[in-house]
Amino acid sequence: MCVRSCFQSSCLQWAWRTAFLKHIQRRHQGSHRWTHLGGSTYRAVIFDMGGVLIPSPGRVAAEWEVQNRIPSGTILKALMEGGENGPWMRFMRAEITAEGFLREFGRLCSEMSKTSVPVDSFFSLLTSERVAKQFPVMTEAITQIRAKGLQTAVLSNNFYLPNQKSFLPLDRKQFDVVVESCVEGICKPDPRIYKLCLERLGLQPSESIFLDDLGPNVKAAASLGIHTIKVNDPETAVKELEALLGFTLRLGVPNTQPVRKTMEIPKDSLKKYLKDLLGIQTTGPLELLQFDHGQSNPTYYIRLANRDLVLRKKPPGTLLPSAHAIEREFRIMKALANAGVPVPNVLDLCEDSSVVGTPFYVMEYCPGLIYKDPSLPGLEPSHRRAIYTAMNTVLCKIHSVDPQAVGLEDYGKQGAYIPRQVRTWVKQYRASETSTIPAMERLIEWLPLHLPHQQRTTLVHGDFRLDNLVFHPEKPEVLAVLDWELSTLGDPLIDVAYSCLAHYLPSSFPVLRGQASSAHAEQTGKLTEFVSNLAWDFAVKEGFRVFKEMPFKNPLTRFCHTWARSQSQWYPIGTRSYSSVPEASPAHASRGGLVISPESLSPPVRELYHRLKRFMEQHVYPAEPELQSHQASAARWSPSPLIEDLKEKAKAEGLWNLFLPLEADPEKKYGAGLTNVEYAHLCELMGTSLYAPEICNCSAPDTGNMELLVRYGTEAQKARWLMPLLEGKARSCFAMTEPQVASSDATNIEASIREEDSFYVINGHKWWITGILDPRCQLCVFMGKTDPHAPRHRQQSVLLVPMDTPGIKIIRPLTVYGLEDAPGGHGEVRFERVHVPKENMVLGPGRGFEITQGRLGPGRIHHCMRLIGFSERALALMKARIQPPTAEGREQERGLRRPCFHWSCRVKSRVAFGKPLVEQGTVLADIAQSRVEIEQARLLVLRAAHVMDLAGNKAAALDIAMIKMVAPSMASRVIDRAIQAFGAAGLSSDYPLAQFFTWARALRFADGPDEVHRATVAKLELKHRI
Ligand SMILES: Cc1cc2nc3c(=O)[nH]c(=O)nc-3n(C[C@H](O)[C@H](O)[C@H](O)COP(=O)(O)OP(=O)(O)OC[C@H]3O[C@@H](n4cnc5c(N)ncnc54)[C@H](O)[C@@H]3O)c2cc1C
Repeated sequence: MCVRSCFQSSCLQWAWRTAFLKHIQRRHQGSHRWTHLGGSTYRAVIFDMGGVLIPSPGRVAAEWEVQNRIPSGTILKALMEGGENGPWMRFMRAEITAEGFLREFGRLCSEMSKTSVPVDSFFSLLTSERVAKQFPVMTEAITQIRAKGLQTAVLSNNFYLPNQKSFLPLDRKQFDVVVESCVEGICKPDPRIYKLCLERLGLQPSESIFLDDLGPNVKAAASLGIHTIKVNDPETAVKELEALLGFTLRLGVPNTQPVRKTMEIPKDSLKKYLKDLLGIQTTGPLELLQFDHGQSNPTYYIRLANRDLVLRKKPPGTLLPSAHAIEREFRIMKALANAGVPVPNVLDLCEDSSVVGTPFYVMEYCPGLIYKDPSLPGLEPSHRRAIYTAMNTVLCKIHSVDPQAVGLEDYGKQGAYIPRQVRTWVKQYRASETSTIPAMERLIEWLPLHLPHQQRTTLVHGDFRLDNLVFHPEKPEVLAVLDWELSTLGDPLIDVAYSCLAHYLPSSFPVLRGQASSAHAEQTGKLTEFVSNLAWDFAVKEGFRVFKEMPFKNPLTRFCHTWARSQSQWYPIGTRSYSSVPEASPAHASRGGLVISPESLSPPVRELYHRLKRFMEQHVYPAEPELQSHQASAARWSPSPLIEDLKEKAKAEGLWNLFLPLEADPEKKYGAGLTNVEYAHLCELMGTSLYAPEICNCSAPDTGNMELLVRYGTEAQKARWLMPLLEGKARSCFAMTEPQVASSDATNIEASIREEDSFYVINGHKWWITGILDPRCQLCVFMGKTDPHAPRHRQQSVLLVPMDTPGIKIIRPLTVYGLEDAPGGHGEVRFERVHVPKENMVLGPGRGFEITQGRLGPGRIHHCMRLIGFSERALALMKARIQPPTAEGREQERGLRRPCFHWSCRVKSRVAFGKPLVEQGTVLADIAQSRVEIEQARLLVLRAAHVMDLAGNKAAALDIAMIKMVAPSMASRVIDRAIQAFGAAGLSSDYPLAQFFTWARALRFADGPDEVHRATVAKLELKHRI
């Protein structure tokens, strides 16, 4: 590659560099939190690059000059020419472009050597992988330094290649901080760049050691108080560094240290035992070291008479019966050695505690490489791939062993391995739990419902990760699999999952560097929280993705279609979620199953429910008559001031934006973080009043639009539209339906969205657009066609249209059985050459169908939740109407109280044909029928919400369609019976019944026609039921 072309600078690189720096800084902060400092007084080692980590440019130049017959020393002289203000230093500070530098540098070299110098070719060589290879001794040293918990940094005069690649040819993962002159605009030996590096490390000068091959750079660092090493050759420099740090940087017997005081074992009795075991006569010493790891079962390296051995023992003290079972480790390794699985050669199991204090076993030491860091820093990608392939090959070998053939058929229980593991984890977590971690609670609930069916039972390692493998030093081959402490018979998938874990954890995660056991309790707590958040994130993203893609295997879908199957096969997951709760503390007991009553909600949500109930009683129901009068007054097209007042009260009481499902907003950035089931209970309560949803900022169509923005909006779109909507300052509408086409089939939509210059121009005729007349309506979420020739479901797009854009012409408000539903109304509207900026497109052209499906999932079952509320209120009013009067009712009748809609307020006992209504058989039958129908529908709503929570909206398609088919007509029937029991008064606006009835009827269209939902149910039923 021509260096000239690859040096062309680009402004974009700056943006990338800044982003990269931020990333590095974040990484540094993250890793710093969990860093273990070991015994050294130093906390970081800072490396120069050329001449320290990789060959120096001077040395490369000398060789290149010989090969190209250029007078010796030309390049070096030209590099130094002009000192601080020479082309090289200016280039290093990014003051000149790569092109400018090469021109000037080439000219300088040619002048000096009196011959043409192809400097491009020199820089090509300098940056080539062949030359710019890190010294292995340095890679080893960096690994050891980081393993001890010290930070590492590179402080380099450097330059950038285009395509966002740095000249710095190092694996950046080896360093906590990277400081480059071309990014900072400062070069060594300027003291500012050293200070910058220390600042990013968060250290004082005296806490770090700096290595550089150039005297002036070393001097500058020393003058700041940094300890320095002048590097002449890397090997000697590493020795000097070892002396300063006080620990080895070479891998002699890797990962060992002198035996810890508390872990000492009697050498004499051990030596005697070993001499007997090995049949050797020696008077030489027994050398003993302890491995860094193996804190669960202390592990020692032993050298005796040229034999290298490893001893692994139980820890001292009282032990749990099944823990530290070194006998099992010995047994499985012995068995596997005969089955071709690479394991250390085990020699003897000694259960006599008199030798070293506890039982132990001895095996041969297996020399080789242990890769501690799963990102394999310093290795070529192809080498990394080979290492992981070898790891997978050995795992296959383990899983292919026939337990019976090697005498391990009784090595563990058969079947249900993963559920048992999950139960054990939960038990262990509960035993050491200090405070509630929400993500962990969600996981404890989610995991048992999403366990894969066990396909096979094999031997499992139980802790299968890279640093439990010893590799051949020269080829990608596993020589031995270590640490069989957790091995058993189980599901092989668990080893696969565990070996993939490192891929999902951040590179700074301490367990990956083998430091978890040294973390303090507080750090362990933080780690647990961090990991549970990561795991929950994985569950909701990957988990839902996996389950969504497995329609036939989705247990929740399947179980409801397969009544004929045997219970044991199909029921465990679906049924359990309805009928039982997980083994958990009482505080969490309500969270695993389907919560069918508000009293079974978790304590905080139950409290929220009761707070909402009080709010409804104290503020909402009493305000209804006034709010209704406002809707019938001349001022009806302006928002009621009382509503605005009540909104502030609801906000103050935390009864605000409750609708956004946790799954769409896992960090609770925008809403209350309720699950769909939790919200179902609260939404039903809000549904008992026509006004409560708006008062709590939970009303359609805003809720659906807000969710759309949360799920699909860009940050700019969210800032502009979502925030005012969440604050309740703005309102919005959704414009899809068109008078000229059957709009229940959204593919029929004809409104056009065409690109013109930097705008989209929309034209179309829409109607039934709820909320468009509201003066607070600022946003119209518009659906139209961008490409009428694309496949049917890729023609539509969704645009965010500001309501003040010229060309939006509202023709009239439509009425529903004469009701206008002011101030939002349901408008008929024309869009005539409405220009919308291109950045207002949601997701991209052709994604409209996909978006509306997402928008209408949870939003539509909110209507069903509210319909249950309508029905409960109607039934309560009906019961109140036919029973003897209450005290408030009597006061109301005597004019001492304002008439109220309150559902428990009874005015008069009504008698017809000689019998109180409450004794009329048909009225009683109506009440019974209504109660049964409400309960049936509520269960179906909750079930849909539950499936959405557990398996995602797509997996819940059938449940959503079923409830949408059932809820509006159920509500219409219940409300109609109540109206009937009220007599003509039921039709009047003295009671909310007539309005309830109207909206229940309208929702048999507004929420999609019944027939469409029926068609969906039938289609899915036929698809799944074979
Ligand atoms: C109060 C209210 C508020 C609304 N708010 C909005 C809004 O904010 N934004 C918006 O865009 N729209 C809104 N709508 C419109 C609503 O979404 C549509 O009315 C609905 O999608 C049906 O479309 P359509 O009226 O064009 O009926 P059509 O599609 O013409 O359907 C008419 C009838 O055809 C039959 N039919 C249709 N499909 C099938 C089928 N697959 N099988 C058997 N029969 C079938 C049904 O009986 C159906 O009722 C609202 C409607 C109402 C009543």
